[in-house]
Parts: sequence; C-alpha cells; structure tokens
Amino acid sequence: MTAIWWVRDDLRLHDNPALAAAAAAGDVIAVHVDERIDGVRAAGGASRWWLHHSLRRLGDSLREHGVPLVLADGDPEQVIPQLVRETGAEQVQWNRRYHRPRRDLDARLKSALRAQGVRAESSDGFLLHEPWTIATQKGEPYRVYSAFARACRDAAPPRPDDAAAPNLSGPADEVHAAGHAMAQWRRAEHLEEILDRRGWVPTAPDWAEGLRETWTPGEAGAWDRLDALEDVLDDYARHRDRPALQGTSRLSPHLRFGEISPHQVWRRSRELGPGEGPETFRDELLWREFAWHRLFHLPELATRNVRSQFDAFDWREDEDDLRAWQRGRTGIDLVDAGMRQLWRTGWMHNRVRLVVGSFLTKNLRLHWRHGEEWFWDTLVDADEAANPFNWQWVAGTGDDAAPYFRVFNPERQQERFDPEGEYVRSWLPEVGTGDRPAPLVDLRASRRDALAAHQRLSGQA
Ligand code: FAD
Repeated sequence: MTAIWWVRDDLRLHDNPALAAAAAAGDVIAVHVDERIDGVRAAGGASRWWLHHSLRRLGDSLREHGVPLVLADGDPEQVIPQLVRETGAEQVQWNRRYHRPRRDLDARLKSALRAQGVRAESSDGFLLHEPWTIATQKGEPYRVYSAFARACRDAAPPRPDDAAAPNLSGPADEVHAAGHAMAQWRRAEHLEEILDRRGWVPTAPDWAEGLRETWTPGEAGAWDRLDALEDVLDDYARHRDRPALQGTSRLSPHLRFGEISPHQVWRRSRELGPGEGPETFRDELLWREFAWHRLFHLPELATRNVRSQFDAFDWREDEDDLRAWQRGRTGIDLVDAGMRQLWRTGWMHNRVRLVVGSFLTKNLRLHWRHGEEWFWDTLVDADEAANPFNWQWVAGTGDDAAPYFRVFNPERQQERFDPEGEYVRSWLPEVGTGDRPAPLVDLRASRRDALAAHQRLSGQA
C-alpha cells in the first residue's frame, strides 16, 4: 500500500506524526506543493531562500530511504488528487495548520478525498497544544498571555519521547513510472532543477551571502542548534536581552519551518533542568503558542488592528522615512544596527526587534503594517502568527499589548542592553567615524508628538 505525505511546515523526519502515520501504512511518497491560496500571503524573499535549501535537504534525506519528494505547484485541491490517481495511493497524511484560509482548503480537500474512498488524515505536528484545546472556563479563547500560559502548563504535558525517525520505504518502480510527477522524480537531478527554476535563491544581486554564513536550513541544522541549547539555557534569563551575546537559541526559523518539533525543544529544555533559565525559555515557547492561538481565532491578525479604536489613529505616511528605517539609515545607532543585522542575516535579536518596532510606530508614527511587511519579506523566521502578533504587541494595537504610550528610548535601551556598544559596532562599523546620517527625528519631540496623537485618539473614544 502507498501513502502520500503532504509536506508543509514540517520539514523533518523525526517526531513527525503525519510522516509516521504514512510510514505505518506502507510505502511513502512525499509531496510539497508551492501553493497560492486566496487570503494568504506568498512567502517573503528570506523565507523562500530558506525553503529552497530545506526542501533540498529533506529530499536528500528521503532519497536515502528510497522515498521520493515530488515538488508540485498550483492548487493542492487539484494536485493532490491527481497524484493519488497517478500513484494509486490509498492514503494522504498531513500535519495541521492553523490560519483559517489554509484550514478551509485542507477541510475541503479532506472531504473530497474521503468521498473518493481515500483515507485522508491530519495530525498535530506544529504546536504543543492545538489552539482549540486551550480555552477559558467559559470556553472562550484567551486574550491574556499569563492566563493562557498557565492553562498550557496545566494541560497535558508535551508528547513523550518518540523522536526516532520512522522506518521508511519508497514505492516500487512501477509506481515511479506512473504519471508525470513521478517520472520527474526518477531523474535524480530533478529536485535541484525544479528548485532552481523557482528562482528562490537570489543571483543578481545575490543578497543571501549573510544568510548562508549564519544558517544551515534543514533538520540537521536544527539539531545542531538544539544541541547548543545547553550552552544558552543556564544564563538565558540574564543574557537573553543582550544582543551582543549568543544568549538565545536561534531556533526560530527551524521551528517556523517545522524542521524540529516544539515537543522536542520543550523536552530538551526540561532535560536541562528546572531553574530560571529553562523556565524563562519555556515561557518564550508559550509566546509562540499564544501567537498561534490568537491567529487561529483572529485570521485577519496581519491586516486589522485587534483594538479597533486604532483604526482612527493618526498614522503618518512618509515613504522616505520608511525607506531610511528599512535601510538602517535613521541615524539612531541601535535602530540602524538592528535593521542591518536583519538585512544581512535574515534575523534580528528580539530586544532590538522591540526597539526598531517602537521607533517605527511611535517616533516615526508609521503604521505597524509597514514594519510587519518588511519583516515578512526579510526575516528567515517570518511567521504568519508571531510576526503580526508581535507587531501589534509593540504598536499597542493588539491583545495584552504594551500600551501605545510606552515608547522605548533607543539610546536608553542601548545603555542598558549594549552598554559597551559591541552590538552596535558589529553592525555599524562606521559609528564614531562621523560617517553617519543625522537623526531622522528628535527622540524627545517625536515621542511628544506620538503621545499627543494617542491623546487625540483617546479623546475621540
Ligand atoms: P529564543 O529566545 O531562543 O526563544 C525560543 C523560541 O521561542 C523562539 O525560537 C520562538 O519560536 C519562540 N519565541 C520567542 N519569543 C517569541 C515571541 N515574542 N513571540 C512568539 N514566539 C517567540 N518570532 C518568530 O518566530 N517569527 C516572527 O516573524 C517574529 N516576528 C517578530 C516581530 C517583532 C516586531 C518582534 C518584537 C518579535 C518577533 N518575533 C518573531 C519574536 C522573537 O523576536 C523571535 O522569536 C526570537 O527573536 C527568535 O530568536 P530565538 O530563536 O533565539 O529565540
């Protein structure tokens, strides 16, 4: 019997319930679909770079077991049934996803396959807790992180250790010969060819050098970061806000693409002990859960203020200021260093994300959506939930968010969290040479203007 594993944000062999279910059923064919779905943004540039490399590595690992990875594009509601027909597969397995338009598509496809007598099943492979299983006593979604996190900690513990990869086998040659997609797979070079044709790796200009230097996409790279967790967790509570240090796990893109499961990360942090460091780290994993919980209940999180009174807020529109922020040319050292780190490596330290976000939405008073979109395109960990959730948090427009009137002073933040200026100098070597733009805004005056705009909004309410 042949089972199809529809690969989505679960690019791993270990602790993967959908793959395990497919492998238990028989021979496995993996398929990844480059899909376009109404109401869902296409992946940004940095994410596409990541996906290219991660798919290649997954394809190589699967090939060792004789399992094909078919790369398709188009509408999954056409592609998957066609592959089922071509291969005679009797099952399709996938791990669930949580953004409404994607869920709707999956539900339609599941019914259609079942109507044709194909066993179609979904599993939980992306989160510690399915979003609908954590609810208030009234059965409503949580809006406050601390109560949500308590509920998660009281819920069933993460899965026990089943980290081994399943025994895999691929389909027999006759199946390979069937159909167009499978025929492509038989040519060993097809994976690279198809990926190259997609143009997800930049060539002219090649902006990915810093990404290559910083990251190893794929399951093995994720395990390396997991193995390094013990170097980080002891001091995590003290060092996590210091951007010059390697004080955090840098697991975010690996979690984003499901190259490692959150259960594995949670378990490892438990093995590394109780204590302030591991506990604080687990709180961060629960922020990830909370962001997905909110997106599950608020599918328009990336486009709509959660607190709708902000619909009337007096945001400025200024292309030049936005461009200066994007390019790291605001003249404010910590902001510019962060934006350069982002551009170069596809990642920015969390403390600095907070500072650049506050600067954009308060000192420059530009809409948080501009920041969210830039991050969407440039972050390797750009996430449908965490990115808009955190932007709304910084801007004060979200649930349980920092209030708008809490404006970070980037200079004060630098004194506290980068006191020797190491981080700033590493991304802005020109600091102190005089070759810096003048500050785009006066920090105090722009803060006053932001607070006045907020006052006007409160006056209207
Ligand atoms: P660690 O400190 O080692 O934390 C471990 C894991 O917990 C992370 O890998 C991540 O999966 C999760 N996590 C930590 N903090 C948060 C948080 N605040 N919200 C949700 N999950 C969290 N994170 C993303 O994964 N994708 C995004 O698109 C994203 N956009 C952000 C935008 C803004 C404006 C801000 C302020 C934060 C954003 N974050 C985002 C959250 C956070 O900055 C990153 O998760 C973190 O910096 C990743 O580094 P790390 O893996 O070393 O984190």
